Amino acid sequence: MHSHHSHSGDYVAHGVDKLEDMVSRTIELEFQIYCLTEHMPRINSKFLYPEETSSTKNDTESLEKLQDNFSKFLRHASEIKERNSSKPTAFIIGTEIEGCDIEHIDYAKTILEKHKDTIKFAVGSIHHVNSIPIDFDQKNWNKALSSSKNNIKNFLLDYYELQYIMLQKLKPLVVGHFDLYKLLIPSDLKINIHTGDIAYDDDDVNNMMISDIELENNWEIVQATIIRNLKYINSYGGLIEINTSALRKNLSEPYPGSIICKLVKEHCQGRFVLSDDAHAISHIGTNYKKALEYMTDTIHLDEIYHLEETSNGEIKVVSQPLTEFSRSNFWNNLD
Ligand SMILES: [Zn+2]
Ligand SMILES: [Zn+2]
Repeated sequence: MHSHHSHSGDYVAHGVDKLEDMVSRTIELEFQIYCLTEHMPRINSKFLYPEETSSTKNDTESLEKLQDNFSKFLRHASEIKERNSSKPTAFIIGTEIEGCDIEHIDYAKTILEKHKDTIKFAVGSIHHVNSIPIDFDQKNWNKALSSSKNNIKNFLLDYYELQYIMLQKLKPLVVGHFDLYKLLIPSDLKINIHTGDIAYDDDDVNNMMISDIELENNWEIVQATIIRNLKYINSYGGLIEINTSALRKNLSEPYPGSIICKLVKEHCQGRFVLSDDAHAISHIGTNYKKALEYMTDTIHLDEIYHLEETSNGEIKVVSQPLTEFSRSNFWNNLD
């Protein structure tokens, strides 16, 4: 079993449990590969979250704390990796990119270069649209949508354009929660099916509930943008994570949803890896049974990929038949 994306309460403010306790749980569940991928530090105070400023004197101190936590994370993760090197669970060290804006994407590049002996790969993630977080709370999500002229089509395009810049500059081996923007879409939101504008008029036949619209297929330009990104990921050998944290947050499908997964099969050779994006012990391997059903019955995969690290520190991409994956001892260890 594998997960290519995780956090802990030790090194990120919104994490819950200690890294050591999370590591013990992954060993107990008999993960074969578990990737430790703390967020890279953000360098502009406008991207600080409230929980990062509550215990510090000022923004400078908050930003320094992010730097300090990241250095500590890298040391701790290296120690965990070393200590478990002869155990059945292998730990690979990565980092989750904070593609907040161009400045952060460029900064990510310097971090990956500086720590290239320690950080073996990146989870390429976008958490912002027009510098506003889209997975933090409803208020910010609404603000992000309004920054895209209150138009869902523009909002999707803004997200995927920033993702494309991040992909081009960093070529992350794993692309994180591909459709994160869906997390906080209000279920009662109505939009104009042609323009993508938020709709208020109930009598207009062009206005539909957003849940009844296949967002990624509805506008040719949006679909073409997604396909362009997927083809680019395919060109450098990147992988798309199936991230089960969406299921833990009660969405009906993991990231990415089945519409995008179909496009990944067509344009990115179905190169999926699996991630739990755990922030707590209880999140480790969360909803993996549902993810297996999703991979088998909904998106009809024959194989799933994972990363392995060779004894000389090289990362290789390995594919495994889903039939073999589904026979892993891990499944017997789940509660
Ligand atoms: Zn993320
Ligand atoms: Zn994450």
